[in-house]
Amino acid sequence: MPHQPVPGGENQAALFGDRDAGRRAAVAGVRAQTNFNKHGHVAVAADQIDFTAAHAKVAFDDVQALRAQVVGRALLTGCACDLAARHRMRGMNDESGTVMAKVVEAVVENERALYVVATPIGNLADITLRALEILRRADLVACEDTRHARHLLDHHGIRTATLALHQHNENEAAQKLIAALDAGKCVALISDAGTPGVSDPGARAVAAVRAAGIRVVPLPGANAAIAAISAAGLCEVDDQRFLFVGFLPAKVGARRAAITELAPLAAALVFYEAPHRVLETVADLAALLPGREIIIARELTKLFEQIERLPLSDACAWLTADANRQRGEFVLIVSAPLPAPEATLDPAAERVLNILLAELPLKQAAKLAATISGAPKNTLYAHALALKQQPL
Ligand code: SAM
Repeated sequence: MPHQPVPGGENQAALFGDRDAGRRAAVAGVRAQTNFNKHGHVAVAADQIDFTAAHAKVAFDDVQALRAQVVGRALLTGCACDLAARHRMRGMNDESGTVMAKVVEAVVENERALYVVATPIGNLADITLRALEILRRADLVACEDTRHARHLLDHHGIRTATLALHQHNENEAAQKLIAALDAGKCVALISDAGTPGVSDPGARAVAAVRAAGIRVVPLPGANAAIAAISAAGLCEVDDQRFLFVGFLPAKVGARRAAITELAPLAAALVFYEAPHRVLETVADLAALLPGREIIIARELTKLFEQIERLPLSDACAWLTADANRQRGEFVLIVSAPLPAPEATLDPAAERVLNILLAELPLKQAAKLAATISGAPKNTLYAHALALKQQPL
């Protein structure tokens, strides 16, 4: 089948990091492929990813271009485990090939990393090109549930071996990962859904790998909290700050205490919740965080996705209005508290206060001004304090 170049291939290569040797080699590979295309020959069979560049600067003959493309693609994964590619590279006989071979050597020798790979939170298509390439190239995929992972891997035709790493065996499994990495294997880490280590296993394994002096490389992608935030329209100033809380405690007392502790924060609060607890959690949020709004983001990226923004006081009624609304997976975002309205001060009381403040200490001036004007003492005191704190 004749090869159909897709524009922007060089940009795709650039996604792999700016100062990375692998990226430089990948770009060279991309250019080589372009040259290869220019010669009008067939593409590598079954390629799903096209790294074609718009402008070829490196001259290769057809065979060398193909080799360079293979190596470039191997390096795009960053794992540089493909020794076969390195040998193919050595087969190249011109100057550019030698330069690239050196880059390959450098990457092969320097790269030993755990790749932390985000996977979909529902829609299987929500996975990056780079994630697929790493999962395909890896020697081992550490995953929360091997059957669940196999479903994802099979969907993308990936045959890589899996190793269970979940909350009950994370420390032991981490040691196996370190042993595999020490043996020169390329290891990827995924969880059941979304980003590992975010309300999911992975953080302890990552910490152990880092402590062993091994590089950890994140491959960003799906995350339920960020997906919900992106569709929530949090445009108030205080909502632009958000605190990711994750799951609240399951026990009523602990949950209420946690919410009470969060109440004064001038930030939106982001929670994960399970369907069987969503109603009681929302009831507690409504009771303890009055006057706020809630965004209920349910079944994100799935068939019955729903994103509803409403006053928190109406949320329980909304959830109970239709039994389906309590089904599925939930992100709950509670808006930040509204800033306290500025107390207005009667102009006559303000004048009295200003005169007294020139002669008396702040507290005494506020007290006397309240007696004279009849305005509330606290308001006068706050006003006086604000005046004192103003820059001269
Ligand atoms: N690591 C995942 C991430 O990056 O988002 C989170 C895993 S945590 C064990 C699972 C919780 O995330 C669910 O109970 C739900 O609160 C939230 N979640 C996951 N997928 C979701 C989706 N498609 N829609 C809404 N919430 C989701």
